[in-house]
Amino acid sequence: MACPICSKPAEPAFRPFCSRRCADVDLSRWLKGSYAIPGARAGEEAEEGFDPSNSPENNSLHRVAKSMDTE
Ligand SMILES: [Zn+2]
Repeated sequence: MACPICSKPAEPAFRPFCSRRCADVDLSRWLKGSYAIPGARAGEEAEEGFDPSNSPENNSLHRVAKSMDTE
């Protein structure tokens, strides 16, 4: 069985991981992935003024539409 983190052969002492480090990595990923989903999602959406309706794509479309309107 290969370590799910780094794909090295697993050590019996740390199965299914190859080392304590990889076991810790997996554990922290699992913990973050499980109980941080609501917070992480909210954090992502609130990040640096990110707004789906104000994304660069939408912005350029709006600009094109506006300049066509006014000119
Ligand atoms: Zn590993």
